[in-house]
Amino acid sequence: MARPRFVIEASEAESMAKQSGLTVVQLLPSLVKSAQSLARVPISKFHVGAVGYGSSGRIFFGVNLEFPGLPLHYSVHAEQFLVTNLSIQSEPRLDYVAVSAAPCGHCRQFFQEIRRAQDINILITSDESGDDENDKSCGQFSPLRHLLPRRFGPEDLLGEDVPLVLEKHNNALSFINKPETFGDDLLIHALEAANRSHAPYSQCPSGVAIMDSEGKIYRGWYMESAAYNPSMGPVRAALVDYIVSGGGGYEQIVAAVLVEKEDALVKQEQTARLLLQTISPKLEFRVLHCK
Ligand SMILES: [Zn+2]
Repeated sequence: MARPRFVIEASEAESMAKQSGLTVVQLLPSLVKSAQSLARVPISKFHVGAVGYGSSGRIFFGVNLEFPGLPLHYSVHAEQFLVTNLSIQSEPRLDYVAVSAAPCGHCRQFFQEIRRAQDINILITSDESGDDENDKSCGQFSPLRHLLPRRFGPEDLLGEDVPLVLEKHNNALSFINKPETFGDDLLIHALEAANRSHAPYSQCPSGVAIMDSEGKIYRGWYMESAAYNPSMGPVRAALVDYIVSGGGGYEQIVAAVLVEKEDALVKQEQTARLLLQTISPKLEFRVLHCK
């Protein structure tokens, strides 16, 4: 069986749309159900799918994730997964999103980390039944500014020249003590991940690389929100890469490396360990410090 896909290349998106007699944007709502089927939601059983269209012409999927044995705030919402997927694939811009249920407050906030977030067009497919006759936006794309009209965002805290979440980051981090096993790919990938971290509010970037039993490596980086709480931790981001790249059960993850600053005010180590050892109790976890 072909593995589930979370990224559709631009040329394929174009031909899928053409076959259906639609534009790519019109195609997005029809893909939401297949995105929903990929959600990993053992607690709520509430499958959310978000399908995004980036400026490169590619289509990206996001789904919600839940982790039994951990508090609910470890959950990843479909929209957060989608933004993480875009960041991992170096997609510079998100223009349209079709999502199965109304984005929660946290996700409306998390989207604010994208430049000109107010202009992202959102369609909620559960509205398509049109049961709210007073809402003219039912079944239509409408800009995020309609869902979050009086926003708090990066511009309240940062200068305009600071890169936002989908923009290029280079945090220029290096290991404090170059480890003896520096040839270890996992360490190099974790450091590269930390260098792509979006942490302009705390200045505490971090990155994680995880390895499965076949030796394949997946990466994720910490992405902060101006409102702090909807921030996306580096392990959860690496799990997005794992799932997007076809990873199966989490117990197949055998090793993980976290890279963060030693004197950081915001540290990931304890929560990273808790999450990783809950989903894959036998994995080997290492922490390396950078400056
Ligand atoms: Zn949400």
